[in-house]
Amino acid sequence: MSNYTYYFKKSCRMCGDTSLKKGMALTPTPPGNDFLKQSELHFDEKKYPLDLYFCENCCHIQLGHVVNPKILYQKNYTYVSATSSEFVNHLKNYANNMIERFNLKSGSLIIDIGSNDGTTLSFFKDLGLKVLGIDPAKEIAKKATNTGIETIGDFFNFELACKIKNKYGSSKFITSHNACAHIDDLLDVIKGVEYCLDDDGVFVIEVGYFLDVYENIWFDTIYHEHLDYHTVAPFEKLFARVGMEIIDVERINPQGGSIRIIAQKKDGQHSRSPNVDKLIEFEKKQGLDQILILQEFEKKISEVKKKLYKLVSTLKEGGKIIAGFGAPTKATTLMAHFGLDKNMIDFIVDDNPLKQGLFTPMAHIPVLSPKALYSRKPDYVIILAWNFAEPIMKMQEKYSREIGQFIIPMPTPLVR
Ligand SMILES: [Zn+2]
Repeated sequence: MSNYTYYFKKSCRMCGDTSLKKGMALTPTPPGNDFLKQSELHFDEKKYPLDLYFCENCCHIQLGHVVNPKILYQKNYTYVSATSSEFVNHLKNYANNMIERFNLKSGSLIIDIGSNDGTTLSFFKDLGLKVLGIDPAKEIAKKATNTGIETIGDFFNFELACKIKNKYGSSKFITSHNACAHIDDLLDVIKGVEYCLDDDGVFVIEVGYFLDVYENIWFDTIYHEHLDYHTVAPFEKLFARVGMEIIDVERINPQGGSIRIIAQKKDGQHSRSPNVDKLIEFEKKQGLDQILILQEFEKKISEVKKKLYKLVSTLKEGGKIIAGFGAPTKATTLMAHFGLDKNMIDFIVDDNPLKQGLFTPMAHIPVLSPKALYSRKPDYVIILAWNFAEPIMKMQEKYSREIGQFIIPMPTPLVR
């Protein structure tokens, strides 16, 4: 199995049922973070499908094709973890709230799945709790351990859970932030959670929320690393498979459109909040229990595509120079699906020095330092990292004052 490039998932990641139906298709791309050196440009890049499937049994939305993680993460050297102070504050408040709400006593074991540099756990540790992080990025895990947050550099799964419980005992509180949409065998992870969890412990999982993706047309968050597009209802089936149940849910918005789900072992000490059924009802009202939602989504995306393509191609026919701002993974999805290639975008600038000097996957557009806006003086700059449009325009205010105009591509193309 370890030598596959990608495979087609025949059963639902949440409920295990095989009634998956294709709901929409985006343009196939290479891995969105596979930036190329000049010497690699002649290679034939392999492209993988980006199709969303809908499970008719539990309504879960997921990618049908799973690319081998070894291929997806081989070029992660361009990744720089940028934790904003706002997000660090969110994590601190989170730790305080959870300790109070679940009456976590000093000495209790707290586990974080996908713990990154240990920021979340550090707030629990500061308040006297025992902490253990798990993160597959071995270098980051080592660094966290060196700063006092013991971290296992591995993937969390049932096998690792057995070793952890053996060595550390069971855990009162297990948490996972924005890690689970990347995990193919989610059932095995949840099995491990159930195994490590104390009988009166709780599990809190934060994941991106598909309703926010749909409403804001964040379609460019669809790329191969993100296997799942979560809503609440399918989690009921997932937890039921391992003898757990949801006790509360909350829509949160630290980095744009997430949901927090709190679960315990079945018939545990906490009662179920009315929030759970309220949100599941709301999801039904929004049509998230119908495959039609994906066809509607595809229509919304096509409308933007038509408008943006017309805008950019008209400018290009008029001989304008157009740059892009930002080369995050999601820009690969956006450019591929909107047909923005090197005939449309002359160059891209990005603040990340590790990306400068490389070429974008698929479109092969050169990535330069933002200084190029002032030396090459493009007539227009499309903000590809459009979720950061406001701070980018503020930072590059000199460009719009003296040189040219910004184009915000989404959710409605806008020249400013
Ligand atoms: Zn399902």
